[in-house]
Amino acid sequence: MKHILLIATGGTIASQPTTNGLAPQLRAGDILGSVPKLRELCRVEALQLMNIDSTNMAPDCWLSIAACVRRHYDAFDGFVITHGTDTMAYTACALSYLIQGSAKPIVLTGSQRSIYSEDTDARRNLYDAFLAAQDDALFGVLLVFNGLVIAGTRARKTRTKSMNAFSSIDYPDIALLREGKILHYIREQKPAGEPVFYDRLNPRVFVLRLIPGMDPGVLRLLLTRYDALVIESFGVGGLPCYEQEDFLAAVRAWSEAGKPIVITTQVPHEGSDLMVYQVGARVAGMPGVLQAQTMTVEAVVAKLMWILPQSRDLGKISSLFQTPIAHDLLRFE
Ligand code: ASP
Repeated sequence: MKHILLIATGGTIASQPTTNGLAPQLRAGDILGSVPKLRELCRVEALQLMNIDSTNMAPDCWLSIAACVRRHYDAFDGFVITHGTDTMAYTACALSYLIQGSAKPIVLTGSQRSIYSEDTDARRNLYDAFLAAQDDALFGVLLVFNGLVIAGTRARKTRTKSMNAFSSIDYPDIALLREGKILHYIREQKPAGEPVFYDRLNPRVFVLRLIPGMDPGVLRLLLTRYDALVIESFGVGGLPCYEQEDFLAAVRAWSEAGKPIVITTQVPHEGSDLMVYQVGARVAGMPGVLQAQTMTVEAVVAKLMWILPQSRDLGKISSLFQTPIAHDLLRFE
């Protein structure tokens, strides 16, 4: 039997009603106790790392989760991390950068309803997560939800209320889970050797959603507080050229300060390509301007936070950003 560690962090799966709405109150032991058939699947140990609504999950929490996996890595065959659904996709991305080359599965899961609700999805998701965590063919950071195994860097919460809350963005699901069995859609070679753990993140990354008529002055304000900027622009990507080209001047100010700007899109699928239109191409060549291409916004944010402590050199930042990690950056060949 495989030996799996449950790391509980809170979320709806651990929540109970309070006078002020749902809040995480159940402990790791309560969560495990509600799925007794897990005992037939694997040997489980549990620890309570934090007990928070994932709205309160921040980069320092991602570092604690990664450090917890690192501390226990050799003693277990796989890991299940219970987590709120609201920011689970960001955590999945962050862990994909903080723990690279893991041959063991590190599986995030949660639920849309508390484990004690009659119509909960928690028991199924939890069982499925353990099924994935003890599977010989799966590895690396994965998100398991509503019967799907999704690559950590491709997951996004796409529904606020339904049980099928997560989607894999522009990448196939890794596997399907049905009635205690796994159907692998993708089988890949497991990484050889030991994983590489990282222990630093720079949280000073801002995401700006462009709207028609936005005041370009906002980019200069952000420059005083942040070390990297992600602009969710329109369509395949570009920046407006009104206001005497103030957008371009502001972009230049960021690059002169040695801080990267990543252009992505607010369209949910198919990524960005700045070279298609003039409004994009004239920005694409500017120093310090990077393109998200097929990376999700969650992945871009976490990747920048992981890259920034490693270098202040825009060339090095750009080359790390453009190096694919755990399926974050997909290229047509
Ligand atoms: N607000 C909750 C959280 O993210 C929602 C959930 O878990 O479904 O912690």
